[in-house]
Amino acid sequence: MAEITENTATLQKYLSLDQRGRILAEYIWIDGSGSIRSKGRTLKKAITSVDDLPEWNFDGSSTMQAPGHDSDVYLRPVAYYPDPFRRGDNVIVLAECWNNDGTPNKFNHRHECEKLMNAHKSEKVWFGLEQEYTLFDQYDNVYGWPKGGFPAPQGPYYCGVGTGKVYARDVIEAHYRACLYAGIEISGINAEVMPSQWEFQVGPCTGIEMGDQLWVARYLLHRVAEEFGVKISFHPKPLKGDWNGAGCHTNVSTEKMRSAGGIKYIDEAIEKLAKRHKEHILLYGADNDLRLTGRHETASATSFSAGVANRGASIRIPRSVAKEGQGYFEDRRPASNIDPYLVTGIIAETIMGEIADADMSKEFQRESL
Ligand code: ADP
Ligand code: MN
Ligand code: MN
Ligand code: MN
Repeated sequence: MAEITENTATLQKYLSLDQRGRILAEYIWIDGSGSIRSKGRTLKKAITSVDDLPEWNFDGSSTMQAPGHDSDVYLRPVAYYPDPFRRGDNVIVLAECWNNDGTPNKFNHRHECEKLMNAHKSEKVWFGLEQEYTLFDQYDNVYGWPKGGFPAPQGPYYCGVGTGKVYARDVIEAHYRACLYAGIEISGINAEVMPSQWEFQVGPCTGIEMGDQLWVARYLLHRVAEEFGVKISFHPKPLKGDWNGAGCHTNVSTEKMRSAGGIKYIDEAIEKLAKRHKEHILLYGADNDLRLTGRHETASATSFSAGVANRGASIRIPRSVAKEGQGYFEDRRPASNIDPYLVTGIIAETIMGEIADADMSKEFQRESL
């Protein structure tokens, strides 16, 4: 680690050099494995609108997004955020991926999701995502765990305080600040049940912004962790055995649900969700069956259930919501490795209605074409 510290001191000298009015824009996108890629470019002046950002491209054959003989994939900017690493007027640019023939890239699920969100704009749908994740060191040991062994069983770690009960608080604290700087609606953080597993919450966010903000928050987490030499895993069951899996609970409300008597609309939504359980599960993350076992605060992947304050159900209505008769519900099924566009998209489709030119349940199949 000493080497890293010395290099960082040397780097500071260069980071403080005048940029001569030029802007650094780091374009980020989702690749063919559900990871994030990025590359940077120089722009001539500060950005005031997404329209100021040029379309760009990359070699899709190197990211599992295109064949070698037709490898250009286009990056179309959809949102930008202040860059907490470069600061100043520098920005992080979230881009959608488009193919040469004018169709959305097979891993671009944002496009269909946005159509649904736009069609249902009047419902003012809000989402809040609870992103759980696990930390590993550079040798792929769970971060902070004893070499070749295991820590004491689960119990003291959830919201743990103190040495031996909590790991990597520095990484988490840095990520929290980076999110706030970038304008992410990060609403909280907590240490999880398994040691070295954490959660951050983003939301409530309206419609398509939910997926956008979560992807940027994930990018910031990978980037921050990189500086600490820590790896981030979004696998839903990173360790077999009596260790909790990682999810991405999805909290949902429409304006009607948030208004007086809204519980009626929450109940209606749950009835609709029950009918499409299988279709939802297909979009709720790879290897999620390893997590949705009916143990460790989950419901089984093969059956649908709902209940007030029940953390063993597919859908939970928070106690306070049942009491007040209005608010939101929590879909506990989505795994930590979801594409939030798929999940918020199919929830929007199921509870607010299908539209003619989008079918979220078909979106996932596009990936294997
Ligand atoms: P849990 O008790 O399940 O751990 P958290 O406090 O971790 O809950 O997360 C709750 C999430 O619900 C937050 O992301 C928050 O933004 C979101 N949320 C709160 N109110 C609403 C609402 N009306 N609609 C949608 N999401 C909401
Ligand atoms: Mn939570
Ligand atoms: Mn949690
Ligand atoms: Mn939750």
